[in-house]
Amino acid sequence: MSVDNPCLSCGACCASFRVSFYWAEADAESGGVVPLEFTEKLNPWRSVMIGTNQPQPRCHALCGDIGGYTTCSIYEQRPTPCREFEAGSEGCLKARAKHGLSLDLSDWRAA
Ligand code: SF4
Ligand code: SF4
Repeated sequence: MSVDNPCLSCGACCASFRVSFYWAEADAESGGVVPLEFTEKLNPWRSVMIGTNQPQPRCHALCGDIGGYTTCSIYEQRPTPCREFEAGSEGCLKARAKHGLSLDLSDWRAA
């Protein structure tokens, strides 16, 4: 049975953690692709997605309602930690639990 990717009705990880990465990922002159306007400097070496470096994080690039339909408005240009984050991982389940979402992803099949 085909089941939609659980991320499309979740978004919890985009509203749970600080998303930081090497600053050059948002520097076009260095080959970076992350839109600069969605980022802010954390220190001389790292930047963060705006909205994630706060007690109740929510990335400004996230559209939609957590647990409803959600999408990343810069999906093709998202930074490395977002690209490497895996559905079903420990961090994923921690984020879903934080937002009161089901931890049972057993009926999801990767395409
Ligand atoms: S918390 Fe897990 S299921 Fe939800 S969007 Fe992130 S990776 Fe996908
Ligand atoms: S850049 Fe996109 S995938 Fe990464 S935290 Fe923000 S909304 Fe989520």
